[in-house]
Amino acid sequence: MSISSDSRRLDYFTWEKASESASQKGSTLVWPFGAIEQHGPHLPLITDTFFAENIVIEVLNRLPSTFPIWRLPSQVMGFSPEHASFPGTISLSADVMLQLVSEIGEQLAAMGFKRLIFFNAHGGQIGLLQAIARQLRVQCSSMAVLPCFLWNGVDELKDLLPNSEVEEGLHAALAETSLMLHMKSELVGSNRPKDGIFVNDKTNNISNVPKGWSLEGAAPCAWLTKDLSHTGVIGDSSNANTMLGKNLEKALIEHWTGLFSNLMESDWPLV
Ligand SMILES: [Zn+2]
Repeated sequence: MSISSDSRRLDYFTWEKASESASQKGSTLVWPFGAIEQHGPHLPLITDTFFAENIVIEVLNRLPSTFPIWRLPSQVMGFSPEHASFPGTISLSADVMLQLVSEIGEQLAAMGFKRLIFFNAHGGQIGLLQAIARQLRVQCSSMAVLPCFLWNGVDELKDLLPNSEVEEGLHAALAETSLMLHMKSELVGSNRPKDGIFVNDKTNNISNVPKGWSLEGAAPCAWLTKDLSHTGVIGDSSNANTMLGKNLEKALIEHWTGLFSNLMESDWPLV
């Protein structure tokens, strides 16, 4: 039997209930991570945080009530220097993120929580959160830290999205626009560009990545959005639609419900 999303909120507990929760075998917290950053002329600044928080709520709603897993308030602002030239973007430095996440992580471990999942929806802070997680694990050996990214490892996405979106739709493109259309269409504007280095011709002052180098993946360039795009979109948002968004949401929820279940049924970490 599943339980209501409010009963999974750690910040709704009393201190006594928090203490009792932390002491349970396998006690696990999920911390949604997002960003306040430009998402093209059509999506809101809060897009990543909105996805992280709402997908976590849906996933937790589907887990058995017997699983000792709760969510923390979302980390609304993140590490977004690549979007800094677009107004509205508010970015914490890597140093501040490291300090903030480490201090909170250390306090949670001291309370007795056994696992902490970073549930991140902002692609620009994957590496940073992985590094912070590894360091935190060393500092707090009694607590496992699992830094995951909303869109990574979800096999069904390959069936739902064209190859070009999977490989080149880096920001505010088909997937994110469709998902927001489905989840909160009133936040989506009608100007939905196709933009970014892969879709622009060479005449509009957009740089080409040197031969053999890539934006992400094998030989990455640590790009800034202004290197690649005038609108803030990197990819093609023009064909976004609600039906695709609905299918994306279903795939994401099913994937992460499965992974969270596997974690809760495991004895990771052995300490
Ligand atoms: Zn995003």
